[in-house]
Amino acid sequence: MDFPKVTGFMNGIWDGEIIPALTDYIRIPNKSPAFDPDWEKHGYMEQVVEMFTAWAKAKLEQLPGSSLEVVRLPGRTPLIFIEVPGATGEPERSVATAYGQGPSGATILMYGHLDKQPEMTGWSEGLGPWEPVLKDGKLYGRGGADDGYAMFAAISALLALKQQNIAHARTVIVIEACEESGSPDLPFYIDHLSDRIGTVDLVVCLDSGCGNYDQLWLTTSLRGMVIGNLTVRVLTEGVHSGAASGIVPSSFRIARNLLNRIEDETTGQMKLPDLFVPIPGDRVAQAKATAEILGDTVFSELPFADGTKPMAADNAARILEKTWMPQLAITAVAGYPVPENGGNVLLPYTTLKLSLRLPPTARAEPARAAVKAALEADPPYDAAVQFDAPRGEGGWNAPTLAPWLEASLNKASNAAFGKPVAFHGEGGSIPFMAMLGEKFPGTQFVVTGVLGPHSNAHGPNEFLHIATAKKIAACIAQVLADHASRQAA
Ligand SMILES: [Zn+2]
Repeated sequence: MDFPKVTGFMNGIWDGEIIPALTDYIRIPNKSPAFDPDWEKHGYMEQVVEMFTAWAKAKLEQLPGSSLEVVRLPGRTPLIFIEVPGATGEPERSVATAYGQGPSGATILMYGHLDKQPEMTGWSEGLGPWEPVLKDGKLYGRGGADDGYAMFAAISALLALKQQNIAHARTVIVIEACEESGSPDLPFYIDHLSDRIGTVDLVVCLDSGCGNYDQLWLTTSLRGMVIGNLTVRVLTEGVHSGAASGIVPSSFRIARNLLNRIEDETTGQMKLPDLFVPIPGDRVAQAKATAEILGDTVFSELPFADGTKPMAADNAARILEKTWMPQLAITAVAGYPVPENGGNVLLPYTTLKLSLRLPPTARAEPARAAVKAALEADPPYDAAVQFDAPRGEGGWNAPTLAPWLEASLNKASNAAFGKPVAFHGEGGSIPFMAMLGEKFPGTQFVVTGVLGPHSNAHGPNEFLHIATAKKIAACIAQVLADHASRQAA
């Protein structure tokens, strides 16, 4: 593969077509169903599906035998399903037999999603979630990096191979529309499409992060999670605090007390044994190596307010705390007015939304049950306490890399960035990876992405680092080419 030629191809297609398409995409507020229960009525998801498929269909004409279908199961978000047959690399026989057309042959599965996180507050002057802004090589706005670029990166990688007539295996591209809601619809689609997907031996997931923008980063693990609402109810209606305080216990104080059962309020350490796993030795070693590469950017890339200091003693420990330890964040509160409207009232209830990240190999269901039992048992003052957490999500720990793939990733990273590939765990979750890991135990995974320092997916000022997106797409082309030549060997 002529890598500089791939680089040139990526520059052309990203600058000429993909960035303009993503610019339009950012304008559409197609929030994931969890954040827009009326998504179907609003029609934004449909708008994006139409936009994405129009672009993809035009491009797929260059890949003989390929097809695109918007698959729709009743009552669920749509899913874009693209099939590209394997290519031998010989122009006169460009539709493959050698690499398998059907379920019996090797298939590469590429994954991304098109639904978005909600707006969030705190966007800088001149920027906004639905207002695309191109500045300093970055495309600002919600969803460009998480994860609108993925389908475009996947297709551009295949087109780059086509341009040079390089062989690749049969490839399916799955773009779902409910990832940011925890992918509740995806298992149904994967079942439904199982025969058409075939036997996957390489997964390329373009929905993850990078430690910097200087090399290719491979995600080695993802955390699981338990999300739920803790509600403490002490009154049937609010009462003047002058009349009630001292007699009625505060629901906030009880909630605080209950949280102490699962988390040490001083250190942030979680307390329940079901939330912990032994950390594998190779992951400890990788955390140390990543700490060497990243130095203090491990924490300095985060927008600490004033003099706020990071947790943990050193950068390797911080990486492990973020990727292999359970951690709690309170992500929403209900039962309270905004401060301007807060009178002297003892409020009837407190609801806290708990987002509890779990270690990659922790079992989600026992963890969820343990948290629920700890929070609900024997409530102070016999207050009405409920922890409403319907389910937990498993995390994921990557299988050991096949030697051909490690070599390919290094070759690709060196060619695109001038530096070798780096490995890191991610603190976030991609539910689909856990699902695939179980379904295809022998599969190799390339989980990577553009979410690097300050890119701030889910927060304000999200941006797509355009140069990195192009380079990752080029790296994927290299991996696809090496995957095919390894099979031919
Ligand atoms: Zn995402």
